[in-house]
Amino acid sequence: MAQIIETGKKEIERVPAKVFIEYRNCSCGGRMLYEESFGTLAIWPPQFTHKCNICGKVESYMDKYPKTVIEEDTYDPLKPVLD
Ligand SMILES: [Zn+2]
Repeated sequence: MAQIIETGKKEIERVPAKVFIEYRNCSCGGRMLYEESFGTLAIWPPQFTHKCNICGKVESYMDKYPKTVIEEDTYDPLKPVLD
């Protein structure tokens, strides 16, 4: 969490981030992949249908996998970030 440490700080600030791709693994060792053609179950919260790329098992999750995860990286707020 960035702290405001000086006056006149930019209203919009860019900070370093780490990007991950999160896969959901099947118990067989395969990966559960979102299948656009299966669509979304019409319930709340929405469920996205996935199929294992090895055994073909079908399951629904509240998120689409693979999923992009972005986390703020640790950084020194006293050092300017180039943007
Ligand atoms: Zn599988």
